[in-house]
Amino acid sequence: MAPKPFAGAFTQQEPIAPEAIAAALRVLESGRLHRYNTVAGETSEAALLEAEYAAFQGADYCLACASGGYAMDIALMAAGLKHGEPVLTNAFTLSPVPGAIVNAGGRPVLVECTRDLVIDLNDLARKADGARFLLISHMRGHLADMDAVMAIAERHGLTVIEDCAHTMGASWNGTKSGNFGHAACFSTQTYKHMNAGEGGLLTSNDPDFMARAIILSGSYMLYERHGAAPEKHYFEAARLETPNCSGRMDNLRAAILRPQLAVLGRNIARWNDRYRTIETALKASGLFHLPERPAAEDPVGSSIQFLAEGITADEACAFMAEAKALGVELKWFGDADPVAFTSNHHSWRFIADQALPETDRVLSGLFDMRIPLTFSIEDCAHIAEIIIHCGTSLRLKGAA
Ligand SMILES: *Cc1c(COP(=O)(O)O)cnc(C)c1O
Repeated sequence: MAPKPFAGAFTQQEPIAPEAIAAALRVLESGRLHRYNTVAGETSEAALLEAEYAAFQGADYCLACASGGYAMDIALMAAGLKHGEPVLTNAFTLSPVPGAIVNAGGRPVLVECTRDLVIDLNDLARKADGARFLLISHMRGHLADMDAVMAIAERHGLTVIEDCAHTMGASWNGTKSGNFGHAACFSTQTYKHMNAGEGGLLTSNDPDFMARAIILSGSYMLYERHGAAPEKHYFEAARLETPNCSGRMDNLRAAILRPQLAVLGRNIARWNDRYRTIETALKASGLFHLPERPAAEDPVGSSIQFLAEGITADEACAFMAEAKALGVELKWFGDADPVAFTSNHHSWRFIADQALPETDRVLSGLFDMRIPLTFSIEDCAHIAEIIIHCGTSLRLKGAA
């Protein structure tokens, strides 16, 4: 018998908390929404967020900007990417990642993905010759063996920039995701770990790099009004040579984010409780491969992925349709046609076509689901029951 349908909304985040609403109202009442619009003695909300995020991350410098994609774009530019240069990145990621590389003038070179959804280290080492940059995307929160990644990067002289859109607050071997590479990019878009609608954060310990990034973000000559910026003299070399690629964060978003940063640790624990509820049930069913979560990894389970390996396209569609009829919204990375946020490298026709047989095999059976914090633990158990039900009927049909 089919389980009763699930009625929750997979795109529904929690409301903005009263403290954040109050902070936003204070900014609105002040009229000073632009980050450099301060009165004497005042530190802007954007600058305060930068200081607080740098402290949370354990990075020397932090820049608040317009989006995660924008942070990646200016990170590549500030790192010295030249026009037409190759940039290694994960074949399994979201389209803003190759998009940022193209925007910065680079040429994305896609690296294969393993069935545990991390960058394939052998393929990375193979493709690293002749490249100077690796934009590693910790897609859907899966962290590769970062010690091994950094060893390869060192051996090949790669500058590493981390896309931490799904690993804000995660760590590997006790080191925060984002503190391995030269710089790290975070997103505060609605579906990530802090919700300001849009927004990005860029962190680094390199003062010259960060001075260039701040000027790129559109600081004009107001770079001293930043919360976690290098000292003034670091800007001397960059202040007139660096283009203004306007993409600042405003005080309204920063005001909404600061109270969220204060409770991020608690929310990470809530996400992981929900993730483990679903993961345990799906694993026990024996129907799917769940990506390995190594002991060294402290992830943030804000979404879950599972593989039905060897599934055909028709079976995948039937499985998703049955789950959807029971109220469970799954996404499938194997679809030939991109749907909503989900696309694969075959539909990124703005970059050169690349042969990625291993990734294609993984994506053909890969399902993905958001876990918003509006879902209770009971909701998660209910969702797992539905997925297992649909997976079981798929198996029976396949075997018949
Ligand atoms: C969302 C996302 C980004 C980009 O973040 P935006 O703030 O939406 O530009 C980058 N990488 C991954 C993996 C993402 O999911």
